[in-house]
Amino acid sequence: MMDLTGIIAGILSTVTERNTYIAPVFTLESACEHEKFAKVFVTKGNFAYMGKKITITFDDNSLSVPIRLDSIFAKLGAIENIAFAKSTYRGAIEDTVLFQQLYDVKTRTFQYKKNNVTVTQQELSAPCMKCGIILPVQQLTIDHQAPQTDGEYEALLKTFRAFGLTHGAPQGPKGQAIQQHFTRGTAMRPIPTRISRPILTSTFSLDDRYTLNDEGVAIYSLIRNEGLLGDLLTACMHGLCNLRPMCGHCNTARGNPTKFI
Ligand SMILES: [Zn+2]
Repeated sequence: MMDLTGIIAGILSTVTERNTYIAPVFTLESACEHEKFAKVFVTKGNFAYMGKKITITFDDNSLSVPIRLDSIFAKLGAIENIAFAKSTYRGAIEDTVLFQQLYDVKTRTFQYKKNNVTVTQQELSAPCMKCGIILPVQQLTIDHQAPQTDGEYEALLKTFRAFGLTHGAPQGPKGQAIQQHFTRGTAMRPIPTRISRPILTSTFSLDDRYTLNDEGVAIYSLIRNEGLLGDLLTACMHGLCNLRPMCGHCNTARGNPTKFI
């Protein structure tokens, strides 16, 4: 996994009011990419580096948006931190505390029949997020909520939404839990499985939830302009916001399940 935050920080560390960074500005509106007439990123002020602001100035001066760099780096860093390498889901489940908290992964007692004797055994386990059956992690698969085929932008927007980078806030309990954890420090809590969950309602429209806000535009444009969009899409596809444990039965109905191990 590339160090997206480090690369962007390195590029912006040389930018001053006199030495500006000039690049196109890209937005995602209703999940579609648009290139804006805006063209200039300028840092403002004589603050220490992390206190600097990046300003997106549109060509016609219709809008000038100052955004703090430290906020951008914090959010980009968090997105990277919750992205798992594709080949190590099992490691993520055993090692990633946030994943364990969110999906109620813990050691539980299971019964096994060995020869003609019923024995109990302690296993690391989690509920299937669809039907709720609790299984040892070896029996579970990983579901990509936005599918690996053609779901890249949905995964990116789902992730950006959880970090407050879209106009609309997350609708589901996972996005809300992640957002509250990273913005307010709320302890991550296990989210309900589908079978016990009430039908979701949102005060935000679908378009708002799939449209970047100013901070989201700044991050997306920086990444896009530096040729790192593929890495960002991969990070979001295989990141915490887009993954959930599911039993083989439920996941088979959704296409090719990826095994935990
Ligand atoms: Zn299931």
